[in-house]
Amino acid sequence: MAFRDDNPETANVTAMFDAALAAAVSHAAFGLPQHGHIRQTEIVKDLFEGHFESATTVAQAFKGALLGIGVAEAVDGEVVAFDDTVWRVPVDGIPVVAEPALGLPFSVVAFGGTEITETVPTGTDFAGLTALIDGVLKAAGQHHDHCVAAIRVDGTFTEMLLRSEPRQTPPFRPLTEVLDHEVQFPFATWAGTLVGFRFPDVNDQVVIPGLHLHGVGADRRSGGHCHRAVTVEATLQIWLDDVDIFVPMTGVHYGVEAPGEVAERPNAGALKAPEGKPSGGSNPSLAASSINPRLR
Ligand SMILES: [Zn+2]
Repeated sequence: MAFRDDNPETANVTAMFDAALAAAVSHAAFGLPQHGHIRQTEIVKDLFEGHFESATTVAQAFKGALLGIGVAEAVDGEVVAFDDTVWRVPVDGIPVVAEPALGLPFSVVAFGGTEITETVPTGTDFAGLTALIDGVLKAAGQHHDHCVAAIRVDGTFTEMLLRSEPRQTPPFRPLTEVLDHEVQFPFATWAGTLVGFRFPDVNDQVVIPGLHLHGVGADRRSGGHCHRAVTVEATLQIWLDDVDIFVPMTGVHYGVEAPGEVAERPNAGALKAPEGKPSGGSNPSLAASSINPRLR
């Protein structure tokens, strides 16, 4: 089926998309074994514009997940998942196990793949961790701007800075205004698990660029979005994955679509997902704007 690009919303998203998906699609097309799968629900642009209503649920998004991150409905906490548990870290910074019915306006979830394990040198900060990940990707024949990797770091850290933000009430404000009131949780030393993703360094308003990690402490008494961390002793796990970005409001998928999902949507088929390679290129007006660095 041909992709209809006369719908402004769909055309917009397609134009924004970058090489990561092209790589993911070709990866899937060649049928390479053992690759995992990343499912992102919703695009960052909508989150930034204050669409904090539920687009999926914990049960839908995280069933069978290896790891994942997200934000709770009405921005009522940062979401982080690993070891078969999904936590919500509300504004008090204390993780609670998320209810399966909890709504999520945005989530990114990984479902496995080929695992690569590395020891992280002591004193590695976020920039160093990103460089380490990129080096691992390069050694695996991948470039960080052409793939998406699921990340897990277990260990002890210094200079840890986590954050959450207060629950919002409609009418919702843009996310940048919400983050002006974020609550930060600094820890001189911290032990726990960080999970998330290394996305390409693109400000396409579809994905959150760069390294994005959420954490939960080993004692399960702290957690949130991770602004900063320096390793003392840590192990890095990386899974190379294909990626599927699903925009529920339009029914549009980018990448590898989960069988049957579109058919379950009330507006299924209203818009067609692109087949094969996306049209590529960047939309200059969108490329000129940037993702808030506090999301990274
Ligand atoms: Zn985050």
